[in-house]
Amino acid sequence: MTVAGDALQEQAAARQLASAVRKLFGRSLHVRTVDTGSCAVCESELRLLLAPHYDLHRLGLFFTPAPRHADMLLVTGPAVRAMDTALLKTYVAMPDPKIVVAIGACPLGGVYAEDDLIHGRLDQVLPVDVVVPGCPPNPLALLHGLLVAVGRLAERVGDLRFVIEEPGP
Ligand code: SF4
Repeated sequence: MTVAGDALQEQAAARQLASAVRKLFGRSLHVRTVDTGSCAVCESELRLLLAPHYDLHRLGLFFTPAPRHADMLLVTGPAVRAMDTALLKTYVAMPDPKIVVAIGACPLGGVYAEDDLIHGRLDQVLPVDVVVPGCPPNPLALLHGLLVAVGRLAERVGDLRFVIEEPGP
């Protein structure tokens, strides 16, 4: 793949993501990130999405420090046991419907899987909906992962509307 080819793919993924967020959620989607002991490179790739080249805000996605305002939880790192409380408190504080996205090879077990201080797999702590593999995943992979996650979340929003609209007994 050439650099130009990569750029075209990134633009196409960004357009799809922006259109999905606009169509499914009206204006914006809020994302909380939690680092469970990563080497910080996955966070660097995530931060790149906020740079002018990708400009995630233009696509309708905003990072928020407040779990109560978040629709999506992005988790990096190998799920160190010391982060269990923070991770679970964040997850519980997020309103339903919500979605969990594991970023990178670490939440799949990664290189630290045998260490007693870590779970190694994020799905031992939280239900994981979408995995974006890579060490680290590049911005194009992250955009694709976010697009898949937005689609899954939209299904849940639809399910919730259906439940709310069900007539009572
Ligand atoms: S997946 Fe790789 S780049 Fe990402 S936190 Fe783990 S070791 Fe670092």
